[in-house]
Amino acid sequence: MIRPRPHVVRWLLALALAVAPLLPLRAQRAVPGLDTAGMDRSVRPGDDFYLYANGSWLRRTVIPADRSAYGGFNIAGERAERRLATIVQDAAAADAPAGSDLRKIGDYDRSFLDTAAIAARGLEPLRPALERIAAIGDRTALAAYLGATLRADVDPINTGNIDTDNLFGLWVAQDFDAPTQNSAFLLQGGLEMPDRSYYLDTSAAMAGIRTQYRGHVARMLTLAGIAGADGMADTILDLETKIARVQESREDSYDVLKGNNHWPRADFARRAPGLDWDAFLGAAGLGDVATFVAWQPGAITALSALVASEPLSAWKALLAYHTIEHHAAVLPDAFDHESFAFFGKTLSGTPEQEPRARRAVQATSGALGFAVGRLYAQRYFPPGAKRQAEAMVANIIAAFHKRIARLAWMAPTTRAAAQAKLATLRVGVGYPDRWPSYAGLEVVAGQAYGNADRVERFEDAQALEKLHKPVDRSQWVMTPQTVNAVNMPAMNALNFPAAILEPPFFDPHRPAVMNYAAIGAVIGHEISHSFDNLGSTFDAQGRMRNWWTPDDSVHFAASTQALARQYDAYRPFSDLAINGQLTLSENIADLAGLTAAYDAYRASLGGKEAPTWAGFRGDQQFFLSFAQVWRTKFRDPALRQRLLTDAHAPGPWRARTVRNLDTWYRVFHVEPSDSLYLAPDQRVRIW
Ligand SMILES: [Zn+2]
Repeated sequence: MIRPRPHVVRWLLALALAVAPLLPLRAQRAVPGLDTAGMDRSVRPGDDFYLYANGSWLRRTVIPADRSAYGGFNIAGERAERRLATIVQDAAAADAPAGSDLRKIGDYDRSFLDTAAIAARGLEPLRPALERIAAIGDRTALAAYLGATLRADVDPINTGNIDTDNLFGLWVAQDFDAPTQNSAFLLQGGLEMPDRSYYLDTSAAMAGIRTQYRGHVARMLTLAGIAGADGMADTILDLETKIARVQESREDSYDVLKGNNHWPRADFARRAPGLDWDAFLGAAGLGDVATFVAWQPGAITALSALVASEPLSAWKALLAYHTIEHHAAVLPDAFDHESFAFFGKTLSGTPEQEPRARRAVQATSGALGFAVGRLYAQRYFPPGAKRQAEAMVANIIAAFHKRIARLAWMAPTTRAAAQAKLATLRVGVGYPDRWPSYAGLEVVAGQAYGNADRVERFEDAQALEKLHKPVDRSQWVMTPQTVNAVNMPAMNALNFPAAILEPPFFDPHRPAVMNYAAIGAVIGHEISHSFDNLGSTFDAQGRMRNWWTPDDSVHFAASTQALARQYDAYRPFSDLAINGQLTLSENIADLAGLTAAYDAYRASLGGKEAPTWAGFRGDQQFFLSFAQVWRTKFRDPALRQRLLTDAHAPGPWRARTVRNLDTWYRVFHVEPSDSLYLAPDQRVRIW
C-alpha cells in the first residue's frame, strides 16, 4: 500500500476518501507541472530537500478545520470526492427500480443524510443488540454472541488493516501453504483506541488521553440510557487494558512468518482454552471449517483465557459500549458528536467534524464500493487513460527486470525465481475486469443504522462464501474510487485504482518525467512489495516458501536493517521517533520504487535529455516532483497517532528517500557538509 489506511472503523466505512475544501493552491496550478511557487529556494536542497521543494506551500497551506492532515492524497481525494458526490446525487435523483444498484446507492446516501429520521428513531435500532447483550447469562452465551458478531473486517497483508473493535477479526484469503484454496484467518482485536500503546504507555500525554477516554466512554453509555455509566467506564477501560496487554505488537502482526500458524479445529480447546469455541465458531458460521490460521497465536490463547477469567458483567459492559461506539455515525447526533469529540478532536486534533453530506457520500462509497466504483470508472476513467497507465506500468516492470538481471549480490537461482515472479505479476489498472454483485444486499430507505449493519453482514456472508470457493486472482481489494494502490503479495497481483491515476500523481498534460517521479514511483513501490521482506516470502504461485539462498537473505537483511536504522534516526517529535522496523517494508518499497521509476524515465528518453522546465533540468524535475507528491501537513496528535500505528513513514520523511540515490547528489550538488549527506557506503541500495 502507498498510503495509510484511513482509521474509520468507527464510522462503519470500509473505505473512505480523504476530503477537504479547496485551497487557493488549485487556482495557482493552471499550467500542469511542478509547483515552483510552493518551493523555498532559500533552503539548500542538500540540507532539507523536502523544505526546498515545499517550503512556501507549507507556510501558506492551512489544514482545513475538518481534517487531521492535508497533502497530495487529499488533493487527489477532493477531486474524487466531488465526482462521487455527483454520482451519488444522480443516483438519488434517478428514481431507479427497486433492487437496482442505482437505487441502493441513492437510498443509502439519503438514509445516512436524514438525521431527522435518525433522531426520530432514537435508541430503537440499538435496542435489539443491547438486549441480546443484557440477556447473556453464561460463558457459552457470551461465546455465541462474540461469534455472531465476528466480522470479516481485517486483512494484514493487502490493505494492512489489523484492527477490529471485536475480540477477533476474520480474514478469508488464499492459504499461504496451499495457494489454490482459501483459508479462514483469525486475528486479535478488542480495542477502541487506535493501538495498544494508548492503553499501556506510561507517559503523561497518554495517561491524559486515557482520562479523557474514560469520560468519553461514560458519556456514550449515558447517552444510551445505561445506568451506572461511571463505574462501567472504569470496568471497560480495565478490561480493554488487559486485552491490550496480551495483544501482539504491530511489528509482529505484520510479520507473515509469525502469522502463518495452522490450527486444526480440534486443537482450539487445548491451545486456547477459556472461550467456548464450539459456540463461538458455530455462531460465526464457521462450524464446518477444519483448519484455521491463528495469526497471533499467543494473543488468541490469552484473549480466550480472558473470556473465562474476567467477570461476565465486565464483558457485557465492554460489548455494550463497543456496540454503541461502532454505530455512533448512524445514531442520533449526540452520539455522533461525542464520538467525534474524542476520536476526531482528542486523538487526531481535528477541530471540526466533516459536513454530514460529505460523510454520507463516503459512507455510501464505502458500503456499495464496487457499485459506486463502476459508475466512477465509466464516467471518469476513459480507455485512453487506462492504456496510458498500463503502458507506464509495463515500462516500470521492464526497469525492474533489468535491475534484477544485473544485481551483483543475488545468486542466479534467486534471480531466476525473482524474474519468474515479476513475469507472472497480475496488474489491474483502473477497475476490476469483473464487477462484484450487490444483489444480496438489502438497502432500506430511511434505515441508516439497519443499512450499515446489513452491509457488514453482507460482506461477512461474501467472505464465508469465498472460503468455500477456489482462489480468484482477479479479485480487487480496493475500489476504483480509492486514492491508493495495493500489492497483494500472496496473490502476486497489483491494483492501481482509477482515482490515483490523477493529479498530483498523474497528469497526461504535464511532462512525462513528473509522472514517472509521482505515479511511476508509486507503481514501482507496489511492484517492489513483491520482493520486499514480506513479498519475498511468497513465490510466483503465492506459496509461502523461501526462494532465496542463505547468502542472498543475509545481504537483503543487512541492507534493509541499514534502512531501518536510517528511519529510526528521524524524530518528528523530541520524544517520538519513526519506528524503522514497523515502516521497513514501506520504506524499502519507496526506495525501490523511486529507483525503478528513475530508470524507466531515463529509458523512455532513449538516451536524450528531457526538455528543461521553468529552468529545471529533467533530473531536477524528477526529484522535485517526487518531493512535492509527499508534501503533507499534520496536526500533532494525528502525526503522533500515525507514528504509533502506521506502517508508512509520514510523507515528509518519505520524501527523504532521495538521500539513497547517487543521482540526487549529482543533480543538486549535495556536499558532505550538507545535513542530508550520506557517504556513498552509507546509502542504502537494495535493488
Ligand atoms: Zn506500500
